[in-house]
Amino acid sequence: MPATKAYAALNPADPLVPFQFDRRETRPQDVQVEILYCGVCHSDLHQVRDEWGGSIYPMVPGHEIVGRVIKIGSEVKKFKVGDLAGVGVMVDSCRTCKNCKKEMEQYCVEDMTGTYNAMERDAVTIAQGGYSSQIVTDERYVYSISPKLDLAGVAPLLCAGITTYSPLRYAGVTKGMKVGVVGLGGLGHLGVKFAVSFGAEVTLISTSPSKQKDAERLGAHKFLLSTDAQQMKDADSYFDVILNTISANHDYKKYLDLLDLDGKLLIVGLPPEDPKVKPFALLKNRRSITGSMIGGTKETQEMLDYCAEKNIVADIEIIPIQQINEAYERMIKNDVRYRFVIDMKTL
Ligand code: NAP
Ligand code: ZN
Ligand code: ZN
Repeated sequence: MPATKAYAALNPADPLVPFQFDRRETRPQDVQVEILYCGVCHSDLHQVRDEWGGSIYPMVPGHEIVGRVIKIGSEVKKFKVGDLAGVGVMVDSCRTCKNCKKEMEQYCVEDMTGTYNAMERDAVTIAQGGYSSQIVTDERYVYSISPKLDLAGVAPLLCAGITTYSPLRYAGVTKGMKVGVVGLGGLGHLGVKFAVSFGAEVTLISTSPSKQKDAERLGAHKFLLSTDAQQMKDADSYFDVILNTISANHDYKKYLDLLDLDGKLLIVGLPPEDPKVKPFALLKNRRSITGSMIGGTKETQEMLDYCAEKNIVADIEIIPIQQINEAYERMIKNDVRYRFVIDMKTL
């Protein structure tokens, strides 16, 4: 069994520490990937600290994985040794239910298998993520990556990228639509890039005045400071679509009020406590709230190909694995521009 070096959380309270475990032997449909970079998602932090409940330890986080194929099983079709490859938030699903058949495996009726903080489908192995030297995954859940793009900048596309691409596509975001993106973090900055590339008029809705310049550099047309009551009032009923990426506790009403007739609040942020919703804010303008979880295998590959065509990658700060605990603290302080990516050579 391939011995694997990693960093893991052993409980919700202590920092991540060096850790070693065995990956499974490569099965006929498996691809073994040497991990070169792994993005740091706010979901890693939520789960390490058990903010959603039910966390499984020891936990090797990381679901924004890119690297090089070092071994393939006898039946693998999509990859050969030496190819660049990516693994995202999901490593398995039942493969037979109606949603799996539509390649929307993230909505598998029997639940997808998360890349970490989950049990594999054998119900005995803990799935372990990308803060590690290598990963062995069925090729269905492994993506091809264009060598045209900066590889470290591609890593965050595997979660932050697809999580923002999918709901914006689902909402039919197109030329001329008024789109608000709430929160300029890992997800938000890619949400801005995608919405701009789809031709929308994009407004960053943020609590951080210091991010206005960056929002403009990323292509946003307008900036709305959500802590300024007058600015929020002036934007009442303005937007067609608002993508909410907030990681901290908050109420939805503040953002619902900004939606025009038939406007949609797209929820991707997962704060520890459930936000409040006022029915009156929904009734006005026939607004709706839609949740969205990452994307299926087909759409994830489509998104990666779209990024290669449009030259879209994340804005990143590369860190050695030894700085992961400090990176988490900086993420809580909202001090990340706009995604940490771990250089796995440092492991
Ligand atoms: P992040 O990089 O930490 O960004 C979160 C942003 O939220 C911050 O940059 C900040 O933006 C804003 N924010 C923070 N505290 C706030 C507050 N109290 N009120 C209003 N805004 C606040 O996090 P991320 O990695 O992008 O992840 C965002 C959320 O999405 C997390 O909850 C994560 O678990 C979730 N997520 C969901 C999926 C999915 O499939 N649906 C996938 C991945 C992640 P400003 O400074 O601009 O205000
Ligand atoms: Zn994530
Ligand atoms: Zn299924």
